[in-house]
Amino acid sequence: MAYDPGNIFAKILRGELPAYRVYEDARVLAFLDIMPRAPGHTLVIPKAPSRNLLDIEPEDLAAVAAAAQRIARAQMTAFEAEGITVTQHNEHAGGQEVFHLHVHVIPRRLGVELKPPLSYKETADVLAEQAARLQAALAD
Ligand code: 5GP
Repeated sequence: MAYDPGNIFAKILRGELPAYRVYEDARVLAFLDIMPRAPGHTLVIPKAPSRNLLDIEPEDLAAVAAAAQRIARAQMTAFEAEGITVTQHNEHAGGQEVFHLHVHVIPRRLGVELKPPLSYKETADVLAEQAARLQAALAD
């Protein structure tokens, strides 16, 4: 399947749509999911135009994995997490909704279930506060 540069995350990368950005380097961008399954739910994406795991270059995949680890470590303190769930979907059959590769990095607490996907759009105030909290932990 071909990469479609009109997808939402490509627009965020180009600055055409806003996002609560928390981390960026030469190869990746990380920002908060606007329909979080738990507080602090973050998406890590490659800057290269990759549809999913099936077409991404290994160097970009490695950079995404390293950034996901960085985000996970920062979430442990920023959100007083007790664990982290990492998921990544490929193609419609694999649960993918947005066709630019993204890794979900989700802070977890014991006994707290994840919200269902796409079930609740978080408010701007809450997302802004959470992004600031995660940025501060990433800077430590
Ligand atoms: P997928 O099912 O493709 O792995 O997940 C897509 C994710 O993108 C969902 O968790 C959804 O909440 C998130 N999402 C959809 N539209 C937007 C958007 O415009 N901005 C942000 N930050 N996240 C989005």
